[in-house]
Amino acid sequence: MYNFNFQVATKVLFGEGQIKHLGEEIAKYTDKVLLVYGGGSIKRNGIYDSAVEQLKKHKVKVFELSNVDPNPRIESVREGVAICKENSIGGVLAIGGGSSIDCSKVISAGVKYDGDPWDLVVDKSLVKDSIPVFTVLTLAATGSEMNGNAVISNMETNEKIGTYGRCLIPKLSVLDPTYTFSVPARHTAAGTADIISHTFENYFTNVDGGYLQSRMAEAILKTCFHYGPIAYNDPTNYDARANLMWASSWAINGLISAGSANNWSVHPMEHELSAFYDVTHGEGLAILTPHWMRHILSDDTVSKFVEYGVNVWGIDSSLDRFDIANMAIDKTEEFFTKELHIPATLRELNLTNKDFDKMAKKAVQVKGGSIQGFVELHAEDVKKIYEMSL
Ligand code: NAP
Ligand code: FE
Repeated sequence: MYNFNFQVATKVLFGEGQIKHLGEEIAKYTDKVLLVYGGGSIKRNGIYDSAVEQLKKHKVKVFELSNVDPNPRIESVREGVAICKENSIGGVLAIGGGSSIDCSKVISAGVKYDGDPWDLVVDKSLVKDSIPVFTVLTLAATGSEMNGNAVISNMETNEKIGTYGRCLIPKLSVLDPTYTFSVPARHTAAGTADIISHTFENYFTNVDGGYLQSRMAEAILKTCFHYGPIAYNDPTNYDARANLMWASSWAINGLISAGSANNWSVHPMEHELSAFYDVTHGEGLAILTPHWMRHILSDDTVSKFVEYGVNVWGIDSSLDRFDIANMAIDKTEEFFTKELHIPATLRELNLTNKDFDKMAKKAVQVKGGSIQGFVELHAEDVKKIYEMSL
């Protein structure tokens, strides 16, 4: 286990009705907040009204930035920064999923930065200071509610890039599972796949982060495999929504990556799908993951797949190790396609192989020439995985 620093600054208010503390908590930081949200789901399900009522009650003035796209765009960030600077706003409140939260994070840093906020996306070392970020989560998926990551897209240049700053970790997150009751089945599935992928990105590692971290990762995976289909089929099941919500936060808040190499493989490949084709993040991950697993399965990696198959899927440990590994990969794929009904191929998302060369080159370029994941991936590996996924 490598040395690590673990510090999560987020105060979490978890459970039904916790929105009632939103105003008093934000008023501790500022009396003017920028409320950032997406295409309007928060107006239809009443969360917008509840939040604004609480803010008014505590005399916090509300400014708004709406219509943040899934795969949030740099244009929204620029707009948000301008509103904050013009009105001397002291905090950003995201109400939504990862897209609104990530957009809010880069806005919060952009307020403290003199240049174009795209610089902060391309070079995370420039993220030094920010105004506070608060969140009300409406979709269990990204874990953005409890981490310092933000992923922003620039569709003009076909770039989708992740940045990070410790100062971007939300100061407060309201996690009310009932707020996810209205999430459509398709996004429940994609969100669950995203949580699973965050966990895999840390679980499949050469640097054994630690026994504890691995067992916790397995617990998060089992939670998703158990509750994902329940939430998909029974959207108002509180226990399912609550367990997925808490799993989303812990999959990517630094706990299971503590002490490990923290080298991600499937996310950088998926980011190119979104950058070129605006693919829904979790769907892209679910399609790529089993093919990535098959591509990297070898004598060097098989023992990790055996650990996964036996501990998570309960496969008989006395079987041949490659049989166990292949069964575990097949079960993973079947879970995504048969239980969560996510398309099995990129073709079903209307992709062709037209841009695979460019996408593969970009995926490794962003990572400095190769993806230093569980197994190092070069452009030709990435292209092969795209082709297998088509
Ligand atoms: P999202 O893009 O925030 O939302 C997806 C869709 O779900 C939107 O159409 C949204 O509608 C709808 N929705 C959200 N909550 C809803 C609710 N309660 N009821 C009805 N509809 C609801 O999805 P996401 O998966 O959370 O975020 C994806 C983005 O996060 C991607 O850009 C991805 O790359 C990034 N990401 C970030 C991290 C991180 O650590 N920061 C990690 C992984 C991925 P409205 O727009 O109308 O609200
Ligand atoms: Fe993700």
